[in-house]
Amino acid sequence: MSVATASSTTTHWRDQSGCLYHDLRVKLRNAGLRPTRQRVGLGWLLFARGDRHLTAEALYEEASKARVPVSLATVYNTLHQFTEAGLLREVAVEGAKTYFDTNTSQHHHFFVEGENQLLDIEGQNISVSMLPEIPEGMEIARVEVVIRLRRKEV
Ligand SMILES: [Zn+2]
Repeated sequence: MSVATASSTTTHWRDQSGCLYHDLRVKLRNAGLRPTRQRVGLGWLLFARGDRHLTAEALYEEASKARVPVSLATVYNTLHQFTEAGLLREVAVEGAKTYFDTNTSQHHHFFVEGENQLLDIEGQNISVSMLPEIPEGMEIARVEVVIRLRRKEV
């Protein structure tokens, strides 16, 4: 498993010095989001521990444990707002839940079937050499590869 780096073109907030809470509020404001208590509370859980892949349910559970008073609906809404603002990337794995990725740099994923685990693959470690012709008037926003893994039977 490769450790994802903060090598994206945007400044990663962990690289900034100073109070993390302050940085989080700045990060939200810069993304055009008012730093409400709920957003800051959820943002803290999401962004304070390095790169993570989380489902809404998993974040809701963490919030409950951390006594951040939010409903599951608020968690969903906030995750989608963060995604639209470019703070998160949505990773849809067929047959599983949607994961929200705090690593917004260009990268791909291994998905471990049965264990519902996503692992990062650095962007440069995969090259897609053949792509189909795309419909007229369209452009490719990005290419994401999910390699599904399962444990070998012994
Ligand atoms: Zn990822």
